[in-house]
Amino acid sequence: MSKVEILPQVAAFLARRHGCFIDGQWVLPEGPTTPVFNPATGETIAEVPDVPLEYMNRAVESAHAAFKSRVWSGLRPADRERILLNFTSLVEAHAEELAQLETLSQGKSINMARMLDVGATVEFMRYMSGWATKIEGQTLDVSIPIPQGTNFTAFARREPVGVVAGIVPWNFPLMITTWKLMPALACGCTVVIKPACETPLTALRLAELAFEAGIPAGVFNVITGEGATVGAGLAAHPLISKVSFTGSTAVGKSVGVAAMANMTRFALELGGKNPMIILEDADIDKAIQGAMLGGLLNQGQVCAAASRFYVHQSRYNEFVDGLAKAVSGLSIGAGMDATAAINPLVSRKQQTSVLKHIETARKEGARVVCGGELLQGDGFFVQPTVLADVDHSMGVARDEVFGPVLSVMSFTDEDKVIELANDSPYGLAASLWTNDLTKAMNLVPRIEAGTVWVNAHVLLDPNMPFGGVKQSGMGREFGRAVIEAYTELKSVCIAH
Ligand code: NAD
Repeated sequence: MSKVEILPQVAAFLARRHGCFIDGQWVLPEGPTTPVFNPATGETIAEVPDVPLEYMNRAVESAHAAFKSRVWSGLRPADRERILLNFTSLVEAHAEELAQLETLSQGKSINMARMLDVGATVEFMRYMSGWATKIEGQTLDVSIPIPQGTNFTAFARREPVGVVAGIVPWNFPLMITTWKLMPALACGCTVVIKPACETPLTALRLAELAFEAGIPAGVFNVITGEGATVGAGLAAHPLISKVSFTGSTAVGKSVGVAAMANMTRFALELGGKNPMIILEDADIDKAIQGAMLGGLLNQGQVCAAASRFYVHQSRYNEFVDGLAKAVSGLSIGAGMDATAAINPLVSRKQQTSVLKHIETARKEGARVVCGGELLQGDGFFVQPTVLADVDHSMGVARDEVFGPVLSVMSFTDEDKVIELANDSPYGLAASLWTNDLTKAMNLVPRIEAGTVWVNAHVLLDPNMPFGGVKQSGMGREFGRAVIEAYTELKSVCIAH
């Protein structure tokens, strides 16, 4: 065991009386609070306000006033970019502090928090900062016939949509906050973020760092509180111009319905039941490594996680045995233990839900090859579990488990396996494992998913659009696509 020492500034932050960050300052509401747990121990490490709607309104009004004043959108793009880069550098300078806060409240490995939750977030922030100076519209040739003899010059400019509400889940709290915040800010929007109740700490710290970096008061606000009140309130608020939501499909749909009532734009990044298809010719060792990363990253609490594995019959035993061997060798421990490969789930609720999925699969006839047992202790641990002989009709092959559970099935016919892969309400991500280029190129277009990897799984890049089809959501994050989603085209037509 190699336990990471908690930084003094992390201990001091946890011990603070937390508030909401509204209009460039801390607001400390009286009233109920929500505990933040350390998933490794079940202990309460902080309390954050469970705010009534009044504070949500204040946050939205502050963001709206900042938008109207053009204090942010009116800056030269180069100045917006410079401030966003300052902000990114501050996040980088506080990397260890943010990584520890993420690990202590979310449960994940400190190694991953450092590399991905902060490291990749910093890269994403830098990438998105650069978009502030690269937003462009179009010049348009038009053929307007009247009044006769008049010439026209037309163009379409991209303008920020307005106030953005970002509703964030608990699996990558810091990272997904920036996925909403940074493109919105690059475009000149102002933002209200509502983090998940389980993991609000890094978003609160981020707001403070943004203000320190020079992002003006009111441009970035954070409110904590229940999804059913504050989250739903944001989705239905008439001063919000765009809601960007990541979370469950059921809640995402309700957010979309509420947004439509005000013609608020919305983007939904929802769940997935992502297949990994391993063809006969695949490199099985690489596929096993891919399954470990794709299926067990963040204990499988990843919307794009690989969770159902279709392996060609001729390679099935080899894959199951190799995967079970690799998975059963993983050490389990707290996220702050840098040697632990598997860490607790985010909450008792998630632990209970995942264990129930395993139990049901067992009853339905799946073979538990490794894992699946309840671990003693107060932490929210679930053993990484490989289930073999799963049938496509079982719950564990159809429902989003969002935990460290890998369900393996076999196939013989490639047309049939594509049919099975597509036989899901979800369509977020998928991967195909083959070295046959012709097969890869012919099968990729037939897979119903927002992202398809070949010989890889779960790898994202800020320049590669990310989002789902079918019940996995609407809209895309990352790349040029997200810039278009936080701006509206305004056509300008000049007669001369
Ligand atoms: P959730 O959808 O309930 O919560 C996501 C966010 O939405 C949180 O900030 C939450 O407070 C907020 N929210 C909750 N109810 C709301 C409402 N009525 N209106 C507006 N906002 C609301 O997800 P959860 O309960 O945290 O997790 C449940 C399941 O969702 C998981 O088991 C998993 O399957 C899925 N999930 C998906 C992702 C993803 O990245 N797509 C992330 C987390 C969870």
